[in-house]
Amino acid sequence: TEEIQAEQKAPSTKELGKETLKGEKEKREFQAETRMLLDIVARSLYSDKEVFIRELISNASDALEKFRYLSVSADSDTLKLVEMDRPLEIRLTTDKQNRTLTFQDTGIGMTKDELTENLGTIARSGSKSFIEEIKKKGADEANSIIGQFGVGFYSAFMVADKIEVYTKSSKADQQGYKWTSDGSGTYEIQEADGVPIGTKIIVHLKTDSREFADEDTVKNIIKKYSNFVSSPVFLNDEQI
Ligand code: ADP
Ligand code: MG
Repeated sequence: TEEIQAEQKAPSTKELGKETLKGEKEKREFQAETRMLLDIVARSLYSDKEVFIRELISNASDALEKFRYLSVSADSDTLKLVEMDRPLEIRLTTDKQNRTLTFQDTGIGMTKDELTENLGTIARSGSKSFIEEIKKKGADEANSIIGQFGVGFYSAFMVADKIEVYTKSSKADQQGYKWTSDGSGTYEIQEADGVPIGTKIIVHLKTDSREFADEDTVKNIIKKYSNFVSSPVFLNDEQI
C-alpha cells in the first residue's frame, strides 16, 4: 500500500479547503511581549498597511526555500515522501463576499510545537527590536517604528480581525493543525485532517481594510514585491 500511496498525485493547491477539525480545541495565551506587540499593531494608524502582503508572501517564500533545502539535504525518513512531487508555489485568493485574503504555500509547513513557538512568541529579531524601541520611545512612536522594523506575520493584524492558519509539516508523519486568533490575548490550536503539506493563512479583513479583498488592488501590490520571490506567485489562479 505504501507504493500505491507514493504514486498518488499530490493534490492540486486549487482544490483545497476541505479540512475537517477533530479533537479538543486548545486555548493558549500569547507570550506577554507578543500581546503587547499585537495590541499596538491592531490599533496602529500606520498608513502603509499593505506591507502585510509583502510579509506573508516573504514568509511563504522562506517556507518554500526551507523545503527545497530540506529536500536535497534530508534523508527520506525525515521527509514525507508521499507529497514530494507537489508544485512549489504561492497562491493568493481574494474573496470579496467573505472579505478574506488567503495565502497558500506548499513549503515546509509547521509542526504543532513550531506553530506555538513561531506564531505565539516573538522569536524573530525584527519584532524583538520593535518591542525594545517601543519600550524606549513609547507607543506614540509605534507608526514610525512599524515602518522601520516590520513586524512580520503579526503585521496582518493591522488589517485582520481574525486570522486562521492551516498547516502541516513536511517532516514525516505529521498531523495537520488549525491555528486561529483574533489578535487579542489568546489563540487556539486544533488538529485538522485534510490539510496538505505547507501553510494556508486566511486573513479575515476588518471592514476598513476591505480593499485587500479586491483582486486589482492586491495584484498591484504583489507586482511591487513578487520580483524578490523565487517561487511562482498566483492570484486567483493567474500567475503574476
Ligand atoms: P520572520 O519571517 O522574520 O522569522 P515572521 O513574524 O514573519 O518572522 O514569522 C515568524 C515565523 O513563523 C517564521 O520564522 C516561520 O518560522 C513561521 N512562519 C510564518 N509563516 C510561515 C509559513 N507560511 N510557512 C512556514 N512557517 C511560517
Ligand atoms: Mg517573515
